[in-house]
Amino acid sequence: MNYCKGTVITGKNTMAISDRCPVPEEPCPTGAFIRPLIWSPCTSDAHLCATGCESLPYLLGKAVGHEMCGEITKVGSEVQDFKVGDRVIVCSVMPVWRSMEAQDGHAKQHQDNMYAGVDFPDRGGSFVEEYYIRDADMNLALIPEGVSLEQAVMVPDMMCTAFEGVRQLAPEFGSSIAVLGIGPVGLMAVRAAVLHGAGSVFAIGSRQKCFEVASEYGATHLVDYHNENYREQILKDNGGPVDGVILCGGSEKELSKGLSILKKGGTLVNMSAYFSGAPIEIDPAVWGFGYGDKIIKGVGCAGERLWMSRMAKLVACGRVAPEKLITHRYHGMDKIPEAMDLFLNHDRSLIKPVIYND
Ligand code: ZN
Repeated sequence: MNYCKGTVITGKNTMAISDRCPVPEEPCPTGAFIRPLIWSPCTSDAHLCATGCESLPYLLGKAVGHEMCGEITKVGSEVQDFKVGDRVIVCSVMPVWRSMEAQDGHAKQHQDNMYAGVDFPDRGGSFVEEYYIRDADMNLALIPEGVSLEQAVMVPDMMCTAFEGVRQLAPEFGSSIAVLGIGPVGLMAVRAAVLHGAGSVFAIGSRQKCFEVASEYGATHLVDYHNENYREQILKDNGGPVDGVILCGGSEKELSKGLSILKKGGTLVNMSAYFSGAPIEIDPAVWGFGYGDKIIKGVGCAGERLWMSRMAKLVACGRVAPEKLITHRYHGMDKIPEAMDLFLNHDRSLIKPVIYND
């Protein structure tokens, strides 16, 4: 076992730079070592920090982080498509491709990431100096020519999650979509819905900076969540309930709000994570009293080489400008706690921070 520097959560709202983050001495035959070039913290990292890893206690003291791009420094003997020096996007979720879940078409439901490392459970997240990945050929993607590091690091979670939500919503051409919550994933969902052929796209949020990006991404209606009549306003502007809802953030109570603007027979894709332990209450009336044919889908990030490569292609072709999400830039691992504080302090100027490893 070797050790490297990494950013770890040490307790509620406390982080530290540690030099005791474990790395195996050699990658397994299908594995690789990656030296990070850029990291991006995320709301879920901040949640772990705010709660002192309450939902995943074994992560306490281990490295945090799951959005990273880097350069390959070593590959195992069976890696075929990647070599030392390649600049790659690293999966946020790491499906185990030799699993029953993969054969069942739900590969991401059996993961080998920091949440459930299979052959090296001590690994932790990717905010480290040297990251170990077990299945390089399946769970890395090359950064295409012309795509910047800042753009690339928005791929593994922001794009892979939001576009997966819209893929599962599968809007018809010209349909009306409401995105409830326009943080970085919600904003990407706006862009994804536009590219997927939606007509009206309602971006529901409260921060001016996010409204600006939503507008640039093609939202047709900017709706202020703090306006207590915002739902009536959507129904009026849309001429009735919308065809699809994407829920990106907020508490358990938002589910009912999302359903209340959804047509009967429509689909709500939930992209929020609920860790509080509170029950999710649904007002029966907004769910058509249980027989309104309203589908609720709980969807998480899709991670794999193919999906990440497709997302990167969207960037390379100029269809998505993910760098618009980046509001804060730092240099050096020591700045990661400062970047995380933006989340913990609910900084209203924040959409996404990035930290260069230089
Ligand atoms: Zn993330």
